[in-house]
Amino acid sequence: MRYVSTRGRAPALGFGDALLAGLASDGGLYVPETWPALPDLTRCVTYADAATAVASCFVGDEIDDATLARCATEAYATFRHPSIVPLVQLDHRQWLAELFHGPTFAFKDVALQLVGRLFDHVLEQRSDHITIIGATSGDTGSAAIDAVRGRDNIDIVMLFPNGRVTDVQRRQMTTVEDANVHIAAIDGTFDDCQDLVKAMFLHPRLASQRHLSAVNSINWGRVMAQVTYYATTSLALGGETVFAVPTGNFGNVFAGWVARRMGAPIDRFVLSTNANDILARFLNEGDMSMREVVPTLSPSMDIQVSSNFERLLFEMNDRDGGMTAEQLARFRSSGRLDVEPDQRAEHLDGTFSATRVDDDATLAEIHRLAHRTGVVVDPHTATATAAASLIDHDGPVVALATAHPAKFADAVARALGQRPELPEALAELHVKAERFEVVANDLELVAAHVERVTAAT
Ligand SMILES: *Cc1c(COP(=O)(O)O)cnc(C)c1O
Repeated sequence: MRYVSTRGRAPALGFGDALLAGLASDGGLYVPETWPALPDLTRCVTYADAATAVASCFVGDEIDDATLARCATEAYATFRHPSIVPLVQLDHRQWLAELFHGPTFAFKDVALQLVGRLFDHVLEQRSDHITIIGATSGDTGSAAIDAVRGRDNIDIVMLFPNGRVTDVQRRQMTTVEDANVHIAAIDGTFDDCQDLVKAMFLHPRLASQRHLSAVNSINWGRVMAQVTYYATTSLALGGETVFAVPTGNFGNVFAGWVARRMGAPIDRFVLSTNANDILARFLNEGDMSMREVVPTLSPSMDIQVSSNFERLLFEMNDRDGGMTAEQLARFRSSGRLDVEPDQRAEHLDGTFSATRVDDDATLAEIHRLAHRTGVVVDPHTATATAAASLIDHDGPVVALATAHPAKFADAVARALGQRPELPEALAELHVKAERFEVVANDLELVAAHVERVTAAT
């Protein structure tokens, strides 16, 4: 199995190289050269078995099945629910697939716990070591840290904007004790942190001394790992399933598209967005034009340019990388993406639709669902259940639950008048010692900090 870039000008790579590279050298995203067929999952007993079978179609002969099975078994042993992704029934046709039972109570654990172990295995095989640097506005940081903590071949340095993440979010990162985890609070904004990370990848000394890497949402391994729950869930419900997906970077819903392309019984997808509704405007009105990002109650969806959309665009262009690169260049210069009507009709209509759910509607939905079903959802999930409740479909409708309600307790309290119960693992954070350094918003100081903290390990 080879991987090609969506912009058509980077060399094709094997799975391990595509995994470690993240972004392709032409700025594109890696996708498999061909889409495999879904393997027979009926004999899979555990979720880890299904994840192994799905991953096996994508890694080719680079990683043997026994190793994949070990990585998947270890990854999902960290989850607090025996089903890994349990289904909760909301009414006669609506379900919730809970993706938040991983170690950091966020859906990103489902992919990152597996990807962290695959990284480690590939690095071990190559006797290589990487330093992952990332910036986080809250949730992604802790999921990435938990996925690689304690690994010999990986250091992780996570930057967060000092004083601008919640107490729980900060403590989820700073109370991790493993020596390969390094947290820096930057005196600046999230954008400053992101700019510092980008600049460090180009920093002559740092970039030549350390093998720098990222585990952001464009990484192919993350999309691959997310295909599994679309397949297991739609097969378990036994009908052409509609998925309602709270969408930010389009990684989650693109994994659903891949599952459908491989043959999973999926009818279509309904994306939910918050007030940052570029995808809803695009899918409903054909208007993909950038606007300012506004902060909402569902911060993981506060995104204007969804990086993984490029993978779908590549498919819409019948895998013509040159055309995809041109279209994206026009989008960057004009702020508008134009798609031909026949491209739209063939690839989008009937497969994707979208619903915009603003903060008021999100709070109303948390309230409605709690009173009707007793199920308390977080604001990201609420956008999806709100979208799902509008769907006209005879078969099963599954809304993806992407965060534990206790992680967004303030919003839930606003909707319900009381705070959700804090799981023990989150409550414990408040008595654990914190470990992080405050660093000025200055590239040379931050680069020197990264060199220093990663030198010893
Ligand atoms: C990351 C995230 C999303 C968005 O997922 P994408 O793959 O970026 O579309 C939605 N909800 C929560 C809670 C998230 O952490």
